[in-house]
Amino acid sequence: MNKNCVFCRIVAGGSPADKEYEDHEMVVFPDIHPSAPVHLLFVSKKHGEEFHNVEPEKLLRMLTKVRERIGELNSPYRVVMNGAGATVVQNHLHVHLLGQVKHDRPV
Ligand code: 5GP
Ligand code: ZN
Repeated sequence: MNKNCVFCRIVAGGSPADKEYEDHEMVVFPDIHPSAPVHLLFVSKKHGEEFHNVEPEKLLRMLTKVRERIGELNSPYRVVMNGAGATVVQNHLHVHLLGQVKHDRPV
């Protein structure tokens, strides 16, 4: 738990988030600044690990959850992962799922 970390605060319940799923290692909630009609964040609860250093099995569990949710969307989607240093929020493995996106958007 890092008091200065927005995802740690959400995981701990100190900051509000409309969690739609939670288990022992991840939490799923809408992005506060949605980039698409559906914009969910799949966030690892553990501060200090990211895409490039997380154990592959954990990454697979998170991506499996993302895929389950895609199955419920029934719409075009994008899956986005921003790496360490590329954005403000760091130190948590997290996956963006964007749903109902336009089909012609470039990468
Ligand atoms: P990143 O840009 O680091 O890949 O993803 C971080 C995401 O977290 C951003 O899209 C940002 O809008 C979202 N975010 C930042 N603070 C909060 C917050 O307090 N609540 C929610 N629900 N999302 C947040
Ligand atoms: Zn944290």
